[in-house]
Amino acid sequence: MSTLAGKVALVTGASSGIGRATALALSEAGAKVVAGARRTDRLETLAKEAPGELLPLALDVTDQGSVQDAVAEAVGRFGALDVVVNNAGLMLSGMILGADTREWTRMVETNLLGSMYVVHAALPHLLRSKGTVVQVSSTSGRTASPAGGVYSATKFGVNAFSEALRQEVTKEGVRVVVIEPGFVSTELTGHITDETMRAMARDMAASMRTLRSEDIAAAVLYAVTQPEHVAVNEILVRPVDQTQ
Ligand code: NDP
Repeated sequence: MSTLAGKVALVTGASSGIGRATALALSEAGAKVVAGARRTDRLETLAKEAPGELLPLALDVTDQGSVQDAVAEAVGRFGALDVVVNNAGLMLSGMILGADTREWTRMVETNLLGSMYVVHAALPHLLRSKGTVVQVSSTSGRTASPAGGVYSATKFGVNAFSEALRQEVTKEGVRVVVIEPGFVSTELTGHITDETMRAMARDMAASMRTLRSEDIAAAVLYAVTQPEHVAVNEILVRPVDQTQ
């Protein structure tokens, strides 16, 4: 099936988890894929696995210059940009009292500001192609809970920014899709520095049939392969076993 033949997609955070699976799914659907992340060795491996053309790109979304360069390189190589999957993110769970606020800064700079930089750099090209922006948010973008305050704040922020963006560009034919995954088994929780929080995440994963990255990639693919007049603006996908 080549439903995305001739289309160019940029995926941020494509070196693991949801981003990696999405880059592969888009490639399988016929898109030319630009895969961005900091760990370029992983992207090189991904390029070998992808069935179609996949350009690995060093990208740090917290660095606006890096984001601008990546978008320029994508357009320079493939001539356009039709789909942007704004996926790079990190979750450093922890209580507010006594937190190492450098972790807050990292989350805000990556999940919120970084994703805004990507939209800012890509939007002129998406307006030309009448393209689609997929904003990877979270169920934490809808409900906050203890130890998730800052992560949730970034994802609530992503949702707010996405809704404003949607209202600004929908009449120009640009579609904005917010994807809100529940618990997906990826490296995400492995980066939590607080051992108690990391153990809680492990226990939570063990208590349910978690989602796989491919489940979210399938949701992205569904949204970006709709007819031109259909805007799938929001998709929330939880594991059946996840209550909250
Ligand atoms: P992973 O840790 O597996 O992937 C995160 C990706 O983000 C990696 O490819 C990483 O690449 C990239 N990344 C992190 N920081 C930067 C940066 N500064 N610049 C560029 N890329 C960066 O986690 P997931 O796949 O689970 O997470 C993907 C998205 O999904 C995130 O936005 C996350 O918040 C969201 N999400 C995940 C859920 C889950 O349960 N797993 C649930 C809901 C939402 P590298 O380190 O090589 O740069």
